[in-house]
Amino acid sequence: MARMNGNGADEWEGGGSLPPAAASVALDRVGKTYSADGDPVRALDDVSFSVADGEFVCLVGPSGCGKTTLFRIVAGLTEATDGRVLLDGTEVTGPTTDMGVVFQEYHLFPWLTVAENVGFGLERSDRSPDERERRVDEMLGLVGLTEFRDAYPKSLSGGMKQRVAIARALAVDPDLLLMDEPFGAVDAQTREMLQRELLDVWASTGKTVLFVTHDVAEAVTLADRIVVMAADPGRVREVVDVDVGRPRERGDAAFAEYVGRVRELIGAGP
Ligand code: ADP
Ligand code: MG
Repeated sequence: MARMNGNGADEWEGGGSLPPAAASVALDRVGKTYSADGDPVRALDDVSFSVADGEFVCLVGPSGCGKTTLFRIVAGLTEATDGRVLLDGTEVTGPTTDMGVVFQEYHLFPWLTVAENVGFGLERSDRSPDERERRVDEMLGLVGLTEFRDAYPKSLSGGMKQRVAIARALAVDPDLLLMDEPFGAVDAQTREMLQRELLDVWASTGKTVLFVTHDVAEAVTLADRIVVMAADPGRVREVVDVDVGRPRERGDAAFAEYVGRVRELIGAGP
């Protein structure tokens, strides 16, 4: 089904939390050819898959297989050469507030406080200052940063910065959360903590998530389904259903089995 809160602004006036808003995503034969010094580079070829309303899908594949290119095309930041991306049936033609985007680098504004960073996307909305502040506080609570609301990014750890980036992406109540290797720059322990937190946020907000990673164990920890890509040209090798309940334990036999299977798919020849 389509979005559950067609007009978020109305519901915000009542305060409190919002009903889940989620969207489906469909990639329809997406292709991308870059031109590198005049020579064509086929980065993506005939990529089709979909993400259902409220589903958590991970995209994995070797370095250079076109994950970031695909992420940017879905986000409306890069134009596809072929095919199209549909968000709830509507073609994506540019960046939209229907998507919350989180990059590997935190992209926080160093001159703004944590609260100001989280509220940045709300500045252009027609919400009153009170509503905006309430929303920012709600998001800070969601990612456990309430007591850091007046801190500046430079005083935060990498994990905290990425929590700010996630809170900022969620603040505008997007239908889709789109993430490109968001935990790539933090240590292993923090990374596992952020993964658990992200799953909690996903469970409580009901968002659709498309999450790019080259870390197979991360994909098996998070995803309902894993889209495994191959390189040269970037394409879908296989889509793997992760049929394991959550929370998932890395020590479990089923977990190891999925990791092995996905690694095998990635390592398989052309
Ligand atoms: P991944 O994120 O999986 O590592 P990318 O999407 O970054 O892969 O890159 C896919 C391919 O496209 C690579 O061969 C890369 O060199 C090429 N590529 C990416 N961005 C550009 C660009 N702006 N211009 C030319 N080639 C690019
Ligand atoms: Mg990349």
